[in-house]
Amino acid sequence: MKYNPYEQMLSVLDLAAEKLGYTLNDYNALRYPERELTVAVPVEMDDGTLKVFTGYRIQHSSSRGPCKGGIRFHPDVDVDEVRALAAWMTWKCAVVNIPYGGAKGAIQVDPSGLSDRELSRLTRRYTAAILPVLGPERDIPAPDVGTDARIMGWIMDTYSMFKGYAVPGVVTGKPIEIGGSLGRKEATGRGVVIVTDEIAFRSGIPMQKAKIAVQGFGNVGGTAARIFYEKGYTVVAVSDVHTGLYNEKGLNIDEIFKHAEANRTLRGYTGKGTREISNDELLTLNVDILVPAALENQITETIAPKVKAKIIVEGANGPTTTRADEILKEKGVVIVPDILANAGGVVVSYFEWVQNLQAIFWDVHEVNSMLKKIMIRSVDEVCALSKGKDTSLRVSAYMVALDRVVKAKKIRGIFP
Ligand code: GLU
Repeated sequence: MKYNPYEQMLSVLDLAAEKLGYTLNDYNALRYPERELTVAVPVEMDDGTLKVFTGYRIQHSSSRGPCKGGIRFHPDVDVDEVRALAAWMTWKCAVVNIPYGGAKGAIQVDPSGLSDRELSRLTRRYTAAILPVLGPERDIPAPDVGTDARIMGWIMDTYSMFKGYAVPGVVTGKPIEIGGSLGRKEATGRGVVIVTDEIAFRSGIPMQKAKIAVQGFGNVGGTAARIFYEKGYTVVAVSDVHTGLYNEKGLNIDEIFKHAEANRTLRGYTGKGTREISNDELLTLNVDILVPAALENQITETIAPKVKAKIIVEGANGPTTTRADEILKEKGVVIVPDILANAGGVVVSYFEWVQNLQAIFWDVHEVNSMLKKIMIRSVDEVCALSKGKDTSLRVSAYMVALDRVVKAKKIRGIFP
């Protein structure tokens, strides 16, 4: 079954608006992205052939500040997915109350199939194609699935070459040497851990005794698993695109990192007491906390009835389908929604941009303590509303976010 993530986003948005007592007139403009750019990206491949890739940059809202959001390189991306991801950025930035709107970009490509030079040419040509809508005051990209600091460096350089001077504030998640922020790379995973600690505490689940499963071993899942492990928590399962690993007594995440770095896959890891499991097995394990940190639509209506976790912390964007969300709610599972759970990344992106605009650098303790403060404040606000209005954390998070964006729009008024 093909899920339309934008439709799923709208269904939660409409519910949040209804609970806030807003009429369609109050928020109708927010049901549509402000601007959508589709670009053809021709690239000369190393063998001399020419390939043309499709790229997007979609700006959902700029009401509360410049548009902000990552760029995804993935063979299956389509326009509906990028639209949903752009809108989620609007709600994410609003729920943690940082002064941004939302955007997302993507190229339909499998980056692992390209050489470094091809990847650089692809990134630079795409940047040139979307250049008119970018800028530190306009729209600021960042890494997402399939992109990293090196690619952000190429974006910064391409934009700067057109301007004629270095513009570090046009992109976040850059290498430290050209204005990246300390703590940015780990920020999303670190934020996931902060939020998990907070919600477990409020749910009366002692983290020292909790069993945790993490789906995805990339920048979000891998980092979250490592920080859980460093805190002495028990991570019983992790997975990547190839396989899952399970040890009911707890995995040695340090050893698994070494294996993954050497082999570029979790497959073949043979730690004591550890066995390989499938993706579906991981999602339905007998654990206290499940962190889906891979892609969208992983927890579907077929998976949801079998989920045993008491808390789900959405490290990925959109990992739970609308129907699965309803089933889990009936089962009493607490779901910390993506727009809150994985906001740590964009929060530290915001710190990076602030540092760039002021041309100063913060130390990592400043970054991490400000991150913690913002994440805990946001959890407090969402939980308070959820209790008061008897709504799920997802609907409450959307309510906090939508209310902020609608108020900003009302104050500014509709142009002309
Ligand atoms: N791609 C990340 C996200 O989905 C980070 C976006 C950013 O830092 O702008 O939140």
